[in-house]
Amino acid sequence: MRPEILIPLFAETDGLDGIGPKLKKPLEKLGLTRVRDVLYHLPERFVVRRAVTDLDDAGVGEQVVVALDIVEHRASRSPRGPYRVMASDAKGNICALTYFGRASYTAKKQLPVGEKRWVAGRLDQYDQMLQIVHPDHVAEKSEQAMGQMVEPIYRLSEGLTQPRITSLVEQSLERAPELPEWIEPSMFRREGWPSWRQAIAQAHKGENAKARDRLAYDELFANALALMLVRESNRKRKGQPLQGDGHLRDKLQLPFPLTGAQRRSIDEIAGDMAQSSPMLRLLQGDVGAGKTVVALESMLMAVEAGAQAAMLAPTELLARQHFKTLRDMARPTGVEIALLTGRDKGRARESILMGLLDGSIDIVVGTHAIFQQSVAYKNLGLVVIDEQHRFGVSQRLMLAQKGRVTPHTLAMTATPIPRTLVLANHGEMEVSRLDELPPGRQAIDTRVLPVDRLEDIVAAIGRHMESGQQAYWVCPMVRDSETMDDDIAAAEARYAGLKERFGDDVVLVHGQLAPEQKDAGMARFAAGEAKVLVATTVIEVGVDVPNATLMVIEQAERFGLAQLHQLRGRVGRGSEKSTCLLLRSSELSETGQKRLELMKSSQDGFLLAEEDLKLRGGGELLGTRQSGEEGFSIATLEQVTRLLDMANADAKMLVEQQGGLANPERGEAARTVLYLLERDWGVQTLRGG
Ligand code: ADP
Ligand code: MG
Repeated sequence: MRPEILIPLFAETDGLDGIGPKLKKPLEKLGLTRVRDVLYHLPERFVVRRAVTDLDDAGVGEQVVVALDIVEHRASRSPRGPYRVMASDAKGNICALTYFGRASYTAKKQLPVGEKRWVAGRLDQYDQMLQIVHPDHVAEKSEQAMGQMVEPIYRLSEGLTQPRITSLVEQSLERAPELPEWIEPSMFRREGWPSWRQAIAQAHKGENAKARDRLAYDELFANALALMLVRESNRKRKGQPLQGDGHLRDKLQLPFPLTGAQRRSIDEIAGDMAQSSPMLRLLQGDVGAGKTVVALESMLMAVEAGAQAAMLAPTELLARQHFKTLRDMARPTGVEIALLTGRDKGRARESILMGLLDGSIDIVVGTHAIFQQSVAYKNLGLVVIDEQHRFGVSQRLMLAQKGRVTPHTLAMTATPIPRTLVLANHGEMEVSRLDELPPGRQAIDTRVLPVDRLEDIVAAIGRHMESGQQAYWVCPMVRDSETMDDDIAAAEARYAGLKERFGDDVVLVHGQLAPEQKDAGMARFAAGEAKVLVATTVIEVGVDVPNATLMVIEQAERFGLAQLHQLRGRVGRGSEKSTCLLLRSSELSETGQKRLELMKSSQDGFLLAEEDLKLRGGGELLGTRQSGEEGFSIATLEQVTRLLDMANADAKMLVEQQGGLANPERGEAARTVLYLLERDWGVQTLRGG
């Protein structure tokens, strides 16, 4: 149960003044549905102004507050021209206050000729004339403008304004209670940090390193504490040592020898699984590095030792593909492999559930359906999680609770994340790296083309198809909106265009198609019947069709490097040379351009990931969307690096030496921060375990 003191913070924003039905959507878009969300919507930056007595004292480009006498209004002759209010400072310097469009109405009202006004804004120069375009504030008395010397600037969504958000923040601050202190007392004193309530207020009022650090620390601490609680509860649960004798693996007839990195990883996994404490290992390997075979070998080990194994995939599409691949590869071994997804209903589902319960199914592949309450296993020994960053920590935890004893866990990811972040996101976890690609892979010829070459590209696709090869066409990301309606509209439009040209050779796959349609489309493409697959980013993870050797990505600059790398990894899987065409818009930001350059010059996922972090800078949040990792929404990368050790050490001390949440002095406060920062899955495991 959430501590009572947090009730006002988890109240819906609907209850705040000035929120009508019109604001609901824009707020939801920013994720600001509860008071706590508004409080944690920290300013992106601040405008800091300086009060000057005259403009001689101010530099061009500077944010100033200055008193001006209004001299004259000058409307432009053309209707769309600027509306200028000429004003003079204390020394007689003339400055134009310039307005465009409707804003001129405000100017007429606010700036009567012959009067004095305090004006806040950015001083510019136009020709030889000083000017302020659209002043931020105009006040009759200086104090009013002075009150805005430091002004927070918030991230907005369509329909919201800065003053609106500022007002919501102020109301939320009034409702924020003083919370019990969860930071260890001597650390709290040493760092000189403000209390939570002070910190959250200060963070909205101006640049304040201590306040920001404290809030970041809270997040790291809550996360570390939750992970630590889980680990503790896992440790108390027994694992089962599994030692395969090789009798199944010997029967495998792989069409290729394993790489050194694959063999090494398999050995590391075997070593872990032979222990009685449950394995928790992350297998990191770039796209195409061959993680699936490692998973198969590990699962066979479990089956050899008399246990069952389950493999979890993030999408239906991937689950089906894995099922097919594993079944084909494992055929000579005679193990029973089943597929279970949310779509299986009735008899078929019942019979799979029976098989899992009586042990006649050795390996099950599926989506999260395989871990629902109703699914019981005879003896689940190993859980493999593919593309693990797609799953929340809480989902992963549910899996660990499935077996009679805690099963071993192997998480796999193609997202190369630095060690610090592995630790921050997953707690203490062993890592195996597939740092060697299977031999014979050819470099993918990557080119950047302006979007106005579309005709040529369509022609090239035609030639490509005639040569018997297949192609992916990835549609632009129009918006980051949750529903992605616009993305789908763009994909439908492109599909219609290509279909007109190439007929039934083209299929479309996106997230909102009926599952059967999606499967049918994928299946036709995988079987080589369809030659071009038009898709939104649903094909990002895992799809494996070696005959597809051309990839077109529209508006490539809008994708992050890691995502582009994943997408490109869909080609270059067979023996034929592959090509990736990155189409860019006519207007390209500097970062966008750098990204595309990097994509052209490198095919190393680890390098690209590091460059990606650099491009985004140390101030970047480690939110889910950007990095693909579930992560931190308050702490920046720089703060994670600086504060994580402290947070880990304190969480460890609290859990291992001070009795954890049962500690009479700190327990309640610790519970509070877990709920406040929505790491309450840490509390839940306690109950479950
Ligand atoms: P990922 O790591 O991206 O999941 P996959 O497991 O899908 O990669 O493997 C990519 C492709 O490489 C598959 O077609 C697979 O059969 C092939 N492959 C895997 N290991 C080897 C190897 N040692 N030698 C040659 N090909 C391999
Ligand atoms: Mg894979």
